[in-house]
Amino acid sequence: PQLANQIAAGEVVERPASVVKELVENSLDAGATRVDIEIDKGGSKLIRIRDNGAGIPKDELALALSRHATSKVHSLDDLEAIMSFGFRGEALASISSVARLTLTSKTVEQTEAWQAFAEGSQMDVKITPAAHPQGSTIDVVDLFFNTPARRRFLKSDKTEFTHIDEWLKRIAIARCDIHFTLTHNGKLVRQYRPANTDIQHQQRLGQICGRQFAENALTVSCEHDGLSLRGYLQSPFDNVISESSYFYVNGRLVRDRLVNHAVRQAFAEHGVEHQPGYVLMLDLDPHQVDVNVHPAKHEVRFHQSRYVHDFILQALQSALSQMVE
Ligand code: ADP
Ligand code: MG
Repeated sequence: PQLANQIAAGEVVERPASVVKELVENSLDAGATRVDIEIDKGGSKLIRIRDNGAGIPKDELALALSRHATSKVHSLDDLEAIMSFGFRGEALASISSVARLTLTSKTVEQTEAWQAFAEGSQMDVKITPAAHPQGSTIDVVDLFFNTPARRRFLKSDKTEFTHIDEWLKRIAIARCDIHFTLTHNGKLVRQYRPANTDIQHQQRLGQICGRQFAENALTVSCEHDGLSLRGYLQSPFDNVISESSYFYVNGRLVRDRLVNHAVRQAFAEHGVEHQPGYVLMLDLDPHQVDVNVHPAKHEVRFHQSRYVHDFILQALQSALSQMVE
């Protein structure tokens, strides 16, 4: 299993940012409202994620570290209608096969917190009492310590940290309700406060996409026949080329040509030739989309892609037409 985990780790754990991604998604799956991310040396020394989510019961700590252990999928139908981020049950097993991993957690029901430690293998997990409020802290120390080739492949601390920062932007813009902090080498680098009001939403958009984007953005909000598209479109009058293009399907960030195509087409109708920035969240019946295409889960397949494309296009056209009037 050690080798299988290390091979799986190759798919799931490419670099520190992918560890952060998997762990923060677990925190969100656990219903956390606050997630604190602490990084040392670009993540090669330490990645620590602390959340205030549901926690992991003592008797499931060791299980959480074993391969294909997931508490999130109970049937084949669940797998088809997957809504949570994790579903393969391989992130923790993979990470613990290539790092020293400590899991500290307390559930509401428990009076004490417990800690599990695994190092380069899930074979021999030690469980000891610990001090921790409700929620979980996962420490990943010395990433790739036992796979020197992969460790050498890491870029500078600064570059690895930038990847983490970029990834956090993607999740922070989709989850304005969550309080995130990001610390590097003891210094607080990002503080995303939870946004409830329009002004707070705009602030977060500004933190991530830039002030001009946020101030001039067009609001997209459209619902039809079980499809919903919400978000922001860069104003066609913004002359700053935006690097920000974020597309989420049922809360999951995906790369998809469909949305780029629709955005370009809608703007071309207004004589704008460049690709504007956007933050768009598409929600639809999870049975209408396959997300199980790649372990990194960046791709989706729509069952009725033409229909989805036309819906997105119409939603964008209507956002743009409001501006022109
Ligand atoms: P998956 O997310 O695919 O289920 P993981 O390996 O990422 O698999 O996690 C294994 C299990 O550990 C999860 O199903 C969940 O039950 C538990 N778990 C992991 N992280 C957390 C967390 N931060 N809070 C609560 N439970 C967690
Ligand atoms: Mg997971």
